[in-house]
Amino acid sequence: MAGNRKTAEVRVDGAPAPGRPWSATAIGQFHDCPLRYWWQKVERWETPSTTALVVGRAVHEALEQLLALPPEERVPVRGDEFLARSLINELALVEDQGLDEAEIREGAAASMTAYWQTEAPAEIEVAPDGLERRVDADLRGLPFLGHIDRIAVSDVGLRITDYKTGAPKPRFWWGYWRQQLLYAAALQELDEPVAEVELLYLKDPRQVTRPVYPAALHRALDDLETAHTERDRMSTAGLWEARTGPLCNYCDFRAACPAQRSNCPPPGGEQSNDILLKAGLTRRASEPNGE
Ligand code: SF4
Repeated sequence: MAGNRKTAEVRVDGAPAPGRPWSATAIGQFHDCPLRYWWQKVERWETPSTTALVVGRAVHEALEQLLALPPEERVPVRGDEFLARSLINELALVEDQGLDEAEIREGAAASMTAYWQTEAPAEIEVAPDGLERRVDADLRGLPFLGHIDRIAVSDVGLRITDYKTGAPKPRFWWGYWRQQLLYAAALQELDEPVAEVELLYLKDPRQVTRPVYPAALHRALDDLETAHTERDRMSTAGLWEARTGPLCNYCDFRAACPAQRSNCPPPGGEQSNDILLKAGLTRRASEPNGE
């Protein structure tokens, strides 16, 4: 929620929000700043890729392939091979975006080195269909879609794990856990109860595991419900809340945001869109699968 941040209602010039499934990322984006969510998810603006995003995608892909091997073959040399391949793919996708290739390679290699300090992959019992698992479920009657990095069988039951290649930031902790708890709730709906959720931090190597307990699940589901109700209200009114705060310093929509500059043109109009295009953002032509 808004906490002690300032909020302002901004009238937008655009279509109402479509009723696509929620994702954990979209719920987080909505709670951070509904106006930014509107630009990203309703108006479908894509923000430029970053070194951190490319590193994250390459490392996730390499770990998925590593964990798909029989346990005895999950050794560092295979991880490095997979990372080299995934980097070729990911670098090709961003070759014209001016990112520093050496920095990406260095970051990816550091994450892979850190991975071996967090766990022994040969000891992980991956559950059937437990890698990059897509889950579709109705949570409190609302459609939810997620992709789970890994589902494994632990001593106490199923454990779901998320790899975090960015630096751990305390202000995002609830968002990280909310994502895992919503995945646990979705699997529970599919009769696959989850006993534990886990985060593997691959920058400052650390493994954090928590039991899934009802109060935490309720809190995560409350966030989903609140986002849905608030989004409906804002969409119907055509007024979206801009929540200013420290995140504005990293926001790709800042140049066009009326909460930052009162004489900005209305979001969604031609002038506002021109500002975003000049800032290097692009607009997706087709609808994504989820929000
Ligand atoms: S600059 Fe701040 S208030 Fe404006 S859209 Fe971005 S996060 Fe929201």
